[in-house]
Amino acid sequence: MSGIADLPRPDQITGPWLRAAAGAGLLGDDQQVRPTIFTEMTAMANATGAINLGQGFPDDPGPQQVLDAARQAISDGLNQYPPLSGIPALRTAIAAHQQRFYGLDVDPDTEVQVTMGATEAMAATLLALVEPGDEVITIDPFYDAYAAIIGLTGGVQKYAPLTLDQDADGRPAGFSLDLDALRAAFTDRTRAIIVNTPHNPTGAMLNRDELTAILDAARAHGAYVITDEVYEHLAFSGAHLPMATLPGARGTVITISSAGKTFSVTGWKIGWITATPELITAIAAVKQYLTFAGGGPFQAGVAAGLGLPDDVLDAHRASLRVRRDLLSEGLRAAGFDVIEAAAGYFTVADAAPLGYQDGAALCREMPGRIGVAAVPVSAFTAAGGQNATRMASLVRFAHCKSTASIIEAADRLQKLH
Ligand code: PMP
Ligand code: GLN
Repeated sequence: MSGIADLPRPDQITGPWLRAAAGAGLLGDDQQVRPTIFTEMTAMANATGAINLGQGFPDDPGPQQVLDAARQAISDGLNQYPPLSGIPALRTAIAAHQQRFYGLDVDPDTEVQVTMGATEAMAATLLALVEPGDEVITIDPFYDAYAAIIGLTGGVQKYAPLTLDQDADGRPAGFSLDLDALRAAFTDRTRAIIVNTPHNPTGAMLNRDELTAILDAARAHGAYVITDEVYEHLAFSGAHLPMATLPGARGTVITISSAGKTFSVTGWKIGWITATPELITAIAAVKQYLTFAGGGPFQAGVAAGLGLPDDVLDAHRASLRVRRDLLSEGLRAAGFDVIEAAAGYFTVADAAPLGYQDGAALCREMPGRIGVAAVPVSAFTAAGGQNATRMASLVRFAHCKSTASIIEAADRLQKLH
């Protein structure tokens, strides 16, 4: 198991890595580097034989046509460097996808950059645009990679908190963006805001008013909006609203997505950016020296996937929704308060009614004690911020696992009583 004890201490080694590790909350006071919460919980699940509802990778095999197209591309010899911007078939498919689902006009030759996952897309974008000392706002809780990459740029991370809303009985009911705090987070140093909707870890989708407030504030401050829409096709209640469709978005909004979640191929790491030609040129100038280009046969697989008829995506979403409901039911029966996920891979549940105020402690206890692994929402919150306290008892469970795993996990969760 790759626990903390196994990692050598790099305490004599200075450099930007310190900002990356510290940004993601992985650096102890003694310069000990911890693994990410995903790595830690997956290792714990493997060591204990627990069902892994921690790390967000699916059990689904992915659409056969997508897998076949990648195999075929290998057989056809598409095994050398792809073009920097991505293979033409994929860029064309991305542009057609933006038109088909969102009515957006995107030029496949000048407005699309294919990347090694959304993670490289985010890294290339931030490294291209953020100077040391510039501020980058993230919604809190936030996906850990944002913090690490902002750290690498020398930028300063700022936070726009989500609020945990309560129903009339005082039970957690959902998440919404605190618009006053959002506006207050912008300053004359703000270079960009990262907007992740559908959102990891909460499963929330930001609504039109929230997204419009973000765009208005960004434009008023001359800041970019960098979106992370990797869960765009997994919206259970209502349609996903890309910020690029809002009036005035052009030139401000940089759209990032990837194939991992849509086609259940998280290990392929094929992502993309769409933005104006000027922005794509700037970002490509950096991306070129991160990896240049890669994943040729997988690019062909994803190009085939983006052209599949709606029913393939609809069936995947429907199946995931059934699993979300199964897991939610199991969590409620076990005594959790469940915040129904509007979208994505994750269901957030409050362990406070079970007597657990510390979700992180519960997550470290569960694999060994009941055979289920999950991750605490606190791993995604700003240290010392309001949500580190308010969301301390929340736990994120992945519902993207097989029905059998979810049924078995739900059964085991009953032992928490
Ligand atoms: N953004 C979010 C919100 C994610 O949850 C993930 C990983 N699941 C990523 C980005 C990483 O995407 P990719 O694997 O395409 O780099
Ligand atoms: N995105 C995955 C999650 O949120 C984790 C990927 C990783 O291990 N870094 O669970």
